[in-house]
Amino acid sequence: MLTEKAQAKINLTLDVHYKRPDGYHEVEMVMQTVDLSDHLQFTERSDSEIVLNCTAPYIPLDQRNLVYQAAQLMKETYGVSKGIHIHIEKRIPVAAGLAGGSSDAAATLRGLNRLWGLGLSLDELALLGAKIGSDVPFCIYGGTAIARGRGELIERLPNVAPTWVVLVKPPIAVSTADVYGKLRADQIVHHPDTAGMMQALLTGDVKQISSKLGNVLENVTFAMYPEVERLKLQLLKFGAQGALMSGSGPTLFALVEREQKAIRICNALRGFSREVYLCRFF
Ligand code: ATP
Repeated sequence: MLTEKAQAKINLTLDVHYKRPDGYHEVEMVMQTVDLSDHLQFTERSDSEIVLNCTAPYIPLDQRNLVYQAAQLMKETYGVSKGIHIHIEKRIPVAAGLAGGSSDAAATLRGLNRLWGLGLSLDELALLGAKIGSDVPFCIYGGTAIARGRGELIERLPNVAPTWVVLVKPPIAVSTADVYGKLRADQIVHHPDTAGMMQALLTGDVKQISSKLGNVLENVTFAMYPEVERLKLQLLKFGAQGALMSGSGPTLFALVEREQKAIRICNALRGFSREVYLCRFF
């Protein structure tokens, strides 16, 4: 038996340059993992099956689950005949813009690499992960990184001091495909300052990092779900220096310098949302 954690990610920036002929969007995103994580447990089986169970209801346990796809890919690519039971303890909100499914898939690749003694490097696992989804390669490495292409080309950045993060999720599920489907890449007026964010991260200063937060998907999701924008304004009203939607949403986050202030903001938000999390860069 072996365990592996799957960290949630937030987007400190999310920019879209253009829509590619293959239908994907060419993106540039500064990504960061936080210490809110799903816990995965791997146990070998005597047959050759892949069997999943998950603490969260409504998550498919068959080929539609990214964990299943990751295990199947490892078995097929490396000719592993052994079966595996994977228990997923879900803590990351689902369909929230926090890459929960992608991170579970990445944790499965890392976990099975260890369990089956395959000796693959993180770079090799990231290449494999790109076959499952664009966010999986980043989730293989974690930490701070810039993602380009359709999100699968990763340049790792130096680690940033463990900054406090307040996460709040409105009670709706957002489909990433719907949001990208409604985005008009040629009509984006304000692009985030990605280079400025990379500079700010080097200083580790929360004020400077907060001033460079930006996500071109915010306006699309806000138009579909106005309550997400209202919650962002609430977050700012409670004293957050900057707030941003992560990925395609609906989760919002704020970076906070001091723990006490982060706790105060969390408590204030609990009157508006049942899903509030206090975490740190990881
Ligand atoms: P992203 O930020 O990459 O867009 P997300 O956080 O918005 O991801 P997920 O939590 O990954 O979204 O879930 C999106 C959908 O994927 C869910 O509706 C769910 O049915 C499906 N899914 C497949 N595998 C998983 C998994 N292991 N955990 C959660 N959802 C999964």
